[in-house]
Amino acid sequence: MIQPDKTLKVANNVPGKYYIDIRCIGCSVCAEIAPTNFCSDLEEGYEYVCKQPTTSMEETLCMEAMEICPVNAIWNDGIPE
Ligand code: SF4
Repeated sequence: MIQPDKTLKVANNVPGKYYIDIRCIGCSVCAEIAPTNFCSDLEEGYEYVCKQPTTSMEETLCMEAMEICPVNAIWNDGIPE
């Protein structure tokens, strides 16, 4: 089972409880589900958390993206900063 590992975070993630790690394959599914919170780094070929969720709708969409990510690259460690 894949475990969260903060040492594998992609560099662009903004601080906060959600983050994407280097296992991301750049499929963009998360950005399609939650475009306010996940952005593409086209040069590097991965997505990153560009805004932590601040509304219940954004939170719901981030959780949905986390569940649907095909490689389990999205994490929520519950730590706000
Ligand atoms: S859904 Fe997962 S693999 Fe696809 S872009 Fe988002 S973090 Fe990367």
